[in-house]
Amino acid sequence: MSLFQLPQAPTHEPLQLTWLSVIQLRLKLQKPFITSFGRQDERDTLLVMLRTQDGLVGIGETPSMAAPMYDENYLWADLDVLQRFLIPTVSEQLKGVICCFDDLESIFKPVKGHRFSKCGLEAAYWHLVAQQKNVALASLWGGRAESVQAGFSIGAKTLDDVLERAERAIQAGFKRLKVKIWPGFDRIVLEAIRNQYPNIMLQADANTAYDPFLSEHIAALKTLDELDLLLIEQPFAENRLLDHARFQAEHNLKTPICLDESIRDLNDVRQAIDLWRLFEVSERLVINVKPPRVGGYWESVRIATYCQAHQVPCWVGGMLETGLGKWMNISLAAHSAFNLPGDHLQPQPYYQQDIINPLPTLRTDGTVIVPSGEIGEIDWETLERLQVARFDFQVN
Ligand SMILES: [Mg+2]
Repeated sequence: MSLFQLPQAPTHEPLQLTWLSVIQLRLKLQKPFITSFGRQDERDTLLVMLRTQDGLVGIGETPSMAAPMYDENYLWADLDVLQRFLIPTVSEQLKGVICCFDDLESIFKPVKGHRFSKCGLEAAYWHLVAQQKNVALASLWGGRAESVQAGFSIGAKTLDDVLERAERAIQAGFKRLKVKIWPGFDRIVLEAIRNQYPNIMLQADANTAYDPFLSEHIAALKTLDELDLLLIEQPFAENRLLDHARFQAEHNLKTPICLDESIRDLNDVRQAIDLWRLFEVSERLVINVKPPRVGGYWESVRIATYCQAHQVPCWVGGMLETGLGKWMNISLAAHSAFNLPGDHLQPQPYYQQDIINPLPTLRTDGTVIVPSGEIGEIDWETLERLQVARFDFQVN
């Protein structure tokens, strides 16, 4: 890593904050989202809103989960950390003045973990910086692409439901499908899709549902290798980095393993790449970069740049963000290091109502436009209607 030059965060004029707010929203999903963790019909999310002395408003999203099932982060902990630690420190320690990204990192560093909360505050900061500099978020983060490829993530419980959603996604123009799998619901569903769409880019996401020490789990995963998958995402638990690498090597799996839950920062990526190299399978590693899981957008840029320098493909994953979070993820994906389609949208919007206009839409070639200016307009009326709680902090 010593030879690797970390990208330098963009500089800007000092931001003088006057108000910091945390807003809890409740959004109704268009369709339930089902993974090995369970079913969701509606979900709460958190927004961090920063106001500057000169009237700029920056908003970032902490796309919290209702329960600590994806990782240890969840809504009430995220809210608590924002309210009790991160926001008061900006207000009191920095006196509301943020001169550079390092100022923000100095606040994050003493708070262990809680990367989702940090991501919301950091995203609001970048939203402000982009406005102050009058540049698009994508170019602020080093992205040049005018459009990015979008994949579709299918989380459904029955084969019929998966096939129906796959058909709708293909009709809409998606070129890549991802299917949530778990023991007993893996080969059958992936094989059915592969038979129906022999040429589609297809990948599986196990969300840690398999045990590397259960022979039937290993046998089930091995049979997926015949289905010409783009990747198999996170079969084992998040702290089983070594087991993932060993599984890839010992069974000579030609399908790359993609790490999602295991990757919490650049250091995890560095260790994963070293491990895959030690097992001599380094060309079969892929990294899923989710800004909230790695603590923010700049850490995502660092990870992507590191992956690019080591020829490891990566892509931007999603967490059921609102349109605001999705636009930010699309802006991030414009960086040339992201070379696989991201989870940016569905054939239908995720939510019955959203907080930003317009929402990202898929073009017939399976891509979505990267905003070249502002990332859309906040729909304040809807935002207020969906708000279930709000906490304001004034900078003294
Ligand atoms: Mg995943």
